Amino acid sequence: MEFQAETKRLLSIVANSLYTDKEVFVRELVSNASDALEKRRYAALTGGGGGGEEAGSNMEISITTNKDANTLTIADTGIGMSREELIDNLGTIARSGTKAFAQNLQEKGEAAANVIGQFGVGFYAVFMVADEVTVYSRKHGSDVAHCWRSTGDGSYALSEATNVEPGTTIVLKLKSTETNFSQRFHIEQNIRKYSNFVGFPITVDGTRVNTLEALWTKSKNEVTVEQHADFYRYVAQAFDDPRYTLHFQADSPLSIRALFYVPQSHMEKWGMARQDRGVHLYSRKVLIQSRCETLLPEWMRFLKGVVDSEDLPLNISRETMQDSLLMRKLSTVLAKRVVKFLQERAKIDQAAFISFYQEFGQYLKEGVYTDFDNKHEIAKLLRFESSRGTPGELISLDDYVGRMKPEQGDEIFWLLAPSRDSALSSAYMESFKAKGVEVLLLYSTVDEFVMTNLMQYSGKSLISAEAAKLAVEDSSASGAAKLSVEEAKGLQEWMTKAVDGVKEVKLSSRLVDSPAIVVGHESASMRRMMTMVESGRA
Ligand code: ADP
Ligand code: MG
Repeated sequence: MEFQAETKRLLSIVANSLYTDKEVFVRELVSNASDALEKRRYAALTGGGGGGEEAGSNMEISITTNKDANTLTIADTGIGMSREELIDNLGTIARSGTKAFAQNLQEKGEAAANVIGQFGVGFYAVFMVADEVTVYSRKHGSDVAHCWRSTGDGSYALSEATNVEPGTTIVLKLKSTETNFSQRFHIEQNIRKYSNFVGFPITVDGTRVNTLEALWTKSKNEVTVEQHADFYRYVAQAFDDPRYTLHFQADSPLSIRALFYVPQSHMEKWGMARQDRGVHLYSRKVLIQSRCETLLPEWMRFLKGVVDSEDLPLNISRETMQDSLLMRKLSTVLAKRVVKFLQERAKIDQAAFISFYQEFGQYLKEGVYTDFDNKHEIAKLLRFESSRGTPGELISLDDYVGRMKPEQGDEIFWLLAPSRDSALSSAYMESFKAKGVEVLLLYSTVDEFVMTNLMQYSGKSLISAEAAKLAVEDSSASGAAKLSVEEAKGLQEWMTKAVDGVKEVKLSSRLVDSPAIVVGHESASMRRMMTMVESGRA
């Protein structure tokens, strides 16, 4: 037997329990209007009638607010609906005329139309905010118009109407609690948030609202630097120009259109709270999630931009994704592309990259120890000062590896110190200096954390200079007198007792100028942390 439906209940569920935010009803109506215009354009192109030869002119969505009457009107000059279509599409829950339209095109082997609707429930979102909804519709090419009216209680009235232009006009009599939506300012904001990139002009009380183009859908060489800068300022709510621009498009395994911008600066370095994500998820130019958290690894939160994928299996409220596996796939592709992009930039313009690194290096370091999938690729982007370079000069791990000495074996050395001077004059540096072996200089505990977390780079171990066992064979060059075996033994025994906390004293050949160093202890930063704990500051 067939299932029956409690239509009244079902309608109430669809209208009231589907969405987290009431405000999305505007997005749903605007999306429907956009779909109707798209269908009209298609009809005109194919000469299939209905569209009329005049398609292309007056294609628009006009919204009018009336604060006094507490109404909101959304009118489009799209394809319109016949009597049957009103019954089929608005009178049948979960029936999508748009989906049928897109499928029809697909079956004919034509390019997928740029339409948004698919579930056949978006329209009913109006009942979250409206007591009564009236739809006037006249199909393009037809002389008859109809009026569809419902209070969302399970039934609707349908009659013929006069004085209706081709297209569809929807009038919402708003609930007395929803006066926001009859205010122009509020609706304008809503359009800017969700529907700013809809491909047809949208006006609110006669003023054009959506003036920005969906740049990400255009091909790369069609977009100018100026357009990118404008778009960046919109999406990042910034006033400067982007430092880097990545326009990324892929068709398989997923259709992806993405725009990523790296700003000039960020606030976290001033000790401000961790910033929110800056990349928004769109599907077919309509906002799905702003500041989407599942799109990119967290360390990429400094990026601003937009990702649009029409393949996304949206859940029915169009607020999230149904398929988290696909979402992860998308995220993997995007993250890898961003890292590759930064690697390319580092090669193309080193100076610009160093400037980027100085501003955003902390995020890359965070990436090394939080982004397991990409850590080794991110490590290629790290830059450090080195004992061989000049003050302020930054080198990559690849630079270092490229000039390693054979006697280093497979070891990359680093030393954590408060400053370059103290690093270079440290006793730990003596044997490295004597042998001409390069040491990377780290000035922050985060760097040390990154090194110990990374452990290896291109098959070589990352070793602290404090723990290194690099011997200097010809330390007798100075001709200084050496201790006899007995004398040395005596000194060792004496020192073990004399110096508190010393476990063992060994003879070493790694020192050149200093008489002794401490080895095998916890790291300098650990020591600092311990003193802080002891003095009660941590
Ligand atoms: P969806 O957009 O997912 O199909 P909706 O509930 O939003 O679902 O709309 C149902 C159907 O009603 C649409 O598929 C479309 O056929 C029709 N429709 C809705 N609004 C309009 C409109 N403004 N102009 C023409 N047809 C419309
Ligand atoms: Mg819809």
